[in-house]
Amino acid sequence: MHQLFLLLGSNIAPRQKYLEHAISAIQSDIGSIWKSSRIYESPPLGFEAEVNFLNQVLWVETKLNPQEVLLRIQKIEIYQGRQRIGAAMMSRTLDIDMLYYDSLVINTPALTVPHPRLHLRRFTLLPLVEIAPTLVHPTMKIDQSALLKACLDDSEVRAITEAAMDRID
Ligand code: ADP
Ligand code: MG
Repeated sequence: MHQLFLLLGSNIAPRQKYLEHAISAIQSDIGSIWKSSRIYESPPLGFEAEVNFLNQVLWVETKLNPQEVLLRIQKIEIYQGRQRIGAAMMSRTLDIDMLYYDSLVINTPALTVPHPRLHLRRFTLLPLVEIAPTLVHPTMKIDQSALLKACLDDSEVRAITEAAMDRID
């Protein structure tokens, strides 16, 4: 079994439904979920959008190789109405990024693992610290807690409380 970390993101309503559907699809197409973070809300980083992002990190156990995982996450994104038109930085129903795959380092045109911007993003590091604080980044050689301490991103990222969960769209 391989240890895979995925980041889910959505900023088009119904955001929570997109995350829930992604989780079911991941369980049937990719592997079983060993741990999942709470859902975090954050303002879009690097572009203007009306709706904040919801993000969640999943720790998945899979038999698939990284290329197979990439094909399947792209299939799940498309099933959920993901459109890719022009600019990469735009609102999306569902984005699934591969953060880590065991301690593998991959640098191909189609796939970079660990995800090249994970250490720059508070919305990725906060949920990673919640479920895997001691997981070591294979090239930076420090764990998720240390990555978060070193991260300069000061955007406002907060976990959605259980009570607020049914008030978000
Ligand atoms: P982004 O997530 O950067 O906003 P996209 O989801 O549109 O943008 O992804 C663009 C491309 O990034 C994908 O077609 C995929 O081939 C590539 N890619 C490279 N590394 C990864 C990774 N670790 N996880 C997901 N996609 C990746
Ligand atoms: Mg993506």
